[in-house]
Amino acid sequence: MSQKNYLITGGSGFIGSCLVRELVKNENNSVCNIDKLTYSSSTKSINVSDYKNYRFKKIDISDSINVKKIILDFKPDFIFNLAAETHVDRSIDNPDTFIQSNINGTFNLLNESYDYWKFLPDDKKSKFRFIHISTDEVYGSLNLDELPFKEDSLYKPNSPYSASKASSDHLVRSWNKTYSFPTIITNTSNNYGPWQFPEKLIPLVINKCLKNKKIPVYGNGLQIRDWIRVEDHVSGLLTILDKGEIGEKYNIGASSELTNIEVISNICKILDNLLPKDNYSYLELIEYVEDRPGHDYRYAINNSKIKSLGWKPSFSWDEGIFDAVNWYLSNRDFLDSNDADNYSGERLGKL
Ligand code: NAD
Repeated sequence: MSQKNYLITGGSGFIGSCLVRELVKNENNSVCNIDKLTYSSSTKSINVSDYKNYRFKKIDISDSINVKKIILDFKPDFIFNLAAETHVDRSIDNPDTFIQSNINGTFNLLNESYDYWKFLPDDKKSKFRFIHISTDEVYGSLNLDELPFKEDSLYKPNSPYSASKASSDHLVRSWNKTYSFPTIITNTSNNYGPWQFPEKLIPLVINKCLKNKKIPVYGNGLQIRDWIRVEDHVSGLLTILDKGEIGEKYNIGASSELTNIEVISNICKILDNLLPKDNYSYLELIEYVEDRPGHDYRYAINNSKIKSLGWKPSFSWDEGIFDAVNWYLSNRDFLDSNDADNYSGERLGKL
């Protein structure tokens, strides 16, 4: 089998590192990760010394000179774009970096990738793919009686984060329609699993429990999210690379809708069993706080299009969350080092 070169942007982040860990298992794959190493990245999530087929370069995707250089040097067969600013609360406090990385960065990456692709020999050109990883948040918010998002649902982003991702999706689509550049866009729901930065709901709740701190619940906690294990998202991305059609979009979700308060209560109950406290339940740490401005009520994904490619999720919610809680319990230093270095658990995104 001939070697395939995968360029991953944002490969030191939560989802990108899971994709890298999966790809490097195959010795016929050569993987190059370019990442700006922002606060949410982790250099420990990939055991570099174990793999000869992995390399890393610290590069900002909006830096055209270095993006051009690495593309010409590495000669990717496939590009997966996961680099982004990703936390909605931070996009409320400081939208600038979201515009710079998510919109300008994607533009620059498209531009440089297209310049490289158009001079490839025909056989390489026809097999090349640019896969852009996006979010269900671009579709806005659903009411309870509305059907889950389909690939042709209207874009109605409500936060600076989702608006920046929506803009990047439009750019990617236009490079396909205008230049016939072989792109595919994927829109996934809320991911969870190992190595997620502890500002996001699930590791945040676990971290608060382990430190006996109050667990903040935004508003009434009845907002609904559709949860998917990060490994299932990654298997979906690889299915799409293999079988997806150029110029198409695919939603990736595991049909697992839960309210935020259900997610938090599930975690507290798992910890009550795994790490019981003598005199209280972790549920007693729950504290209702002021809601996020513009907080979307419900996201839900119709996954029939990706299922038609033969993909299905392998984790149920109950298995996936139990395993994830166990992972964070066994990797407390990951939570602790982020506490010390990058984020001390404070409330973000209040006006
Ligand atoms: P993350 O914040 O954990 O990781 C993002 C990575 O991108 C970090 O390593 C960061 O250093 C890097 N990065 C940021 N700006 C960069 C730049 N300008 N140049 C190079 N690298 C840069 O995020 P994640 O959860 O792994 O998300 C990955 C992708 O998946 C994002 O595009 C996000 O919008 C999308 N997504 C995530 C979720 C989720 O639940 N986590 C859901 C839907 C979509």
